[in-house]
Amino acid sequence: MCGIVGAIAQRDVVEILLEGLKRLEYRGYDSAGVAVVNSDNSEFKRVRRVGKVKALADAIHEEPCLGSTGIAHTRWATHGEPTEANAHPHISKDRITIVHNGIIENHNVLRDRLSQKGYVFTSATDTEVIAHLLESELDKASDMLSAFQATIAQLEGAYGTVAMDNQNPDHLYAARSGSPLVIGYGIGENFLASDQLALLPVTRRFSFLEEGDIAVLSRSDVVIYDQAGTEVEREISESDVVHDAGDKGPFKHYMLKEIYEQPIAIKNTLEGRIKSGVVVEDIFGPGSSEILKGIEHVQIIACGTSFHSGMVAKYWFEEHADVSCNVEIASEFRYRKSKVHPNSLLVTISQSGETADTLAALRLAKEIGYQSSLSICNVPGSSLVRESDMAYLMKAGVEIGVASTKAFTVQLVGLLLLVVAVGRHKSLSKEAERDIVSALSALPAKIEQVLDMSKAITLLAEDFADKHHSLFLGRGDQYPIAMEGALKLKEISYIHAEAYAAGELKHGPLALIDADMPVIVVAPNNELLEKLHSNVEEVRARGGLMYVFADTGANFKSDSTMKVLAVPHCEKAIAPILYSVPLQLLSYYVALIKGTDVDQPRNLAKSVTVE
Ligand code: GLU
Repeated sequence: MCGIVGAIAQRDVVEILLEGLKRLEYRGYDSAGVAVVNSDNSEFKRVRRVGKVKALADAIHEEPCLGSTGIAHTRWATHGEPTEANAHPHISKDRITIVHNGIIENHNVLRDRLSQKGYVFTSATDTEVIAHLLESELDKASDMLSAFQATIAQLEGAYGTVAMDNQNPDHLYAARSGSPLVIGYGIGENFLASDQLALLPVTRRFSFLEEGDIAVLSRSDVVIYDQAGTEVEREISESDVVHDAGDKGPFKHYMLKEIYEQPIAIKNTLEGRIKSGVVVEDIFGPGSSEILKGIEHVQIIACGTSFHSGMVAKYWFEEHADVSCNVEIASEFRYRKSKVHPNSLLVTISQSGETADTLAALRLAKEIGYQSSLSICNVPGSSLVRESDMAYLMKAGVEIGVASTKAFTVQLVGLLLLVVAVGRHKSLSKEAERDIVSALSALPAKIEQVLDMSKAITLLAEDFADKHHSLFLGRGDQYPIAMEGALKLKEISYIHAEAYAAGELKHGPLALIDADMPVIVVAPNNELLEKLHSNVEEVRARGGLMYVFADTGANFKSDSTMKVLAVPHCEKAIAPILYSVPLQLLSYYVALIKGTDVDQPRNLAKSVTVE
């Protein structure tokens, strides 16, 4: 969601800024802009465009601009429509230039106050107040840093922001409060961005700003102040992000590429974490095995797709580890009073590690008494990882498609390893652990087999192209997989999709069944199979059309009302992971037929860093 890039160098930074924005495109945005100034202050220029970064780059290439200090932004509108006037950077009195991620909650009060002082607003954004406020503070303050500090002190909300003073182009000023910012260190040049991915072409040395930090960048130096205004050092580390966004290779979309990367992503995530048929000690961090020994309850917090992986984990924890488990949506948890069970482990799940609601929920959980926290996350150094006691770094590789695929299945693998790590101190036998580990080792090959179903799923997808609604059914640990399947279809094909635990059919959704409501069923061969057969008959009796992804031995047969796709048999523990793959393919091929923007579906953003 929304992206910031900044650079201060001895060379022209326009291309660095544009490349940085391109690398953040996958996060979802509606407009983009760049502002640059030269160190001799001879030129200041701002260019903004609605739509893709390419439109911005084309505009700049048509009418080139140069600058050795600059800031750039991709905007995901929260306040004001996606128009050029609302796109960042925002300017005050031709002097102060601002880019901003997040939301300024007290923008109305500030706007009124600044309007009374004579400032004229040219946008409907909350961001513009920062520019005018900073400009107004310059009158009172002795220098730009004090003015910036005074400005930041008046802002409420969650934000990351960068300011440029056109009259002093030798510095950039950045503040982090709830929305990530990373500093990139070069030689005689320095950078900043909302995500290190943006800066990988120019540096691999990074430090992450902490909550409340303010940073001042010059070409030779970076000075960081903490919330109290004290100068602090933040650790600089060498990034080992190996998977660059890269290109799509032979695939038409990143989403399809990422679906096909699942076997290798799962091999990577398992590497070094299972050995000799068991889960390695301390894979969640030094001393983690000892902490997990004492766990008596697990509270999982997540949003969206990650919430669905958490729901699967609830089934697993209670079945294999004999530990009670609750799963809750982060935006609910953070705004209600909840009870902390004794010896609870708080688990947060987020691909980016910057999901605003999840992060806020983690902070609240610590306040209300959770003693240990663990995050499952794909981005090393992200806020969630840094603020949790333990972490599982997914190593799924960068995920570009807004609709999560490989991150979901790899999260599930991480969660199953956690279930084993907790369960081995409870009722999980050595033998059961070995069975789970061997099933996980076999998973990449099984997924390859499912990917071979692609052709058949393409044909199936044609039936959905003219449909407006659909129903996904599953039982037990496949119920969250039905939910995830429905979410995928909604996200990228814009077809309304609902998921139900199959046993709930007769409590309402049966009323919806007719020939225009395709019903998708996930049916592994487990102890709930007979129950599921009955549910399928209930749908058939009401003239519904069914699409059943079924275990080869599950005894479903294709006929005029039902299309059955055989899924290779697998161990029960990994079935939720395996069955999510054909549903991903189904959504993808339906979206392809419908011609939607698969990698960047309308109105959505990759990592939801605002509430
Ligand atoms: N709230 C700001 C706006 O609507 C920033 C949105 C963003 O994070 O991109 O312009």
